[in-house]
Amino acid sequence: MIESKLLLDMNTQELSELLASFGEPKFRAKQLYEWLNKGAEFDEMTNMPKNLIEKLKSAGYRAQGIKILKEYISQKDGTIKYLYSLYDGNLIEGVLMKYKYGNTICVSTQVGCRMNCAFCASGLDGLVRNLSAGEILGQVVAVNRKNSNDSERGVTNIVLMGSGEPLDNYDNVCKFLTMVSDEKGLNISKRNISLSTCGLCDKIVQLADDGYSPTMTISLHAPNDDMRKKIMPIAKKYSINDIIKAVKYYFDKTGRRIIFEYSMISGENDTEECARELAKVVKGLSCHINLIPLNFVKERGLDGSNKKNIYRFQAILESYGVSVTVRRSMGSDIEGACGQLRRKVINGDESV
Ligand code: SAH
Repeated sequence: MIESKLLLDMNTQELSELLASFGEPKFRAKQLYEWLNKGAEFDEMTNMPKNLIEKLKSAGYRAQGIKILKEYISQKDGTIKYLYSLYDGNLIEGVLMKYKYGNTICVSTQVGCRMNCAFCASGLDGLVRNLSAGEILGQVVAVNRKNSNDSERGVTNIVLMGSGEPLDNYDNVCKFLTMVSDEKGLNISKRNISLSTCGLCDKIVQLADDGYSPTMTISLHAPNDDMRKKIMPIAKKYSINDIIKAVKYYFDKTGRRIIFEYSMISGENDTEECARELAKVVKGLSCHINLIPLNFVKERGLDGSNKKNIYRFQAILESYGVSVTVRRSMGSDIEGACGQLRRKVINGDESV
């Protein structure tokens, strides 16, 4: 593997140390950091000495971690899907959703995924590799650059809901969370960041203990362990009870309401009985449930529930006093779901 020496991986302290080792004054690190967070490549860094740029290049450093290879704009709702390439040729994807209150980017944390959920395109090849902090940050930096100008705000919200399991890449994700909310960097409000996990309970607890507080989103997708084990292999390791304990701990430490994601699969987890069972599971928790119509993934073959079943499910949850919404399916015409676009490119169904 090619050695990755990515400047966007470095926080201000690390950049200062690197530039000091080249005999450069402190303010150069500040300048470089600003350029990197604006998405600049070396040749755009006009106020940096040419010989310093040459030294960095010949030491094998790269400025930006990713390149936008292609973008697809939804004709339905303006959602933009991005296909990115990494320095080693791997592909990842992301989405920018434009809402009235701001622009939300969905970022990937791994190439592929080890979790192999039965409905998801990301886990089809297993885990290829983790993304570094700078490769995760690079997605935000690149999309922010493309979408911000004098009249547009750029990226305001982040969800770690793209390909990969963020808590299976714990250290890099934590470093990313710190860097992306750095006020000298992109300065994204910590309150505007959500992390979605299939439920790695010990890491949920660790995240709270380590002082991080993204909105915790749990991919639950089933109201009991037997059903969950059928669609999510991780359920063999952690029970729903383990998850409830972990999120209670997380809520007590961070004060942030928990979100549960429930992707609705026709004839599997969308019955009236499932809704009643789910209401009992979340009883007493400060939480919200998002019902998501399943996106069809060819290789997985599972169908999404129809609208009638989804709204019936919602009504039952509401009758138990549960806070619940049906998530608008954004970008469904552009392979908006996790891992779908990369899969199409790999299969040769989509050219780049
Ligand atoms: N690994 C993390 C984050 C990635 S997936 C997690 O499990 O939460 C983001 C969300 O999309 C998860 O809730 C995941 O279960 C869901 N998802 C994956 N494939 C989907 C599909 N085909 N249709 C609908 N939701 C899907």
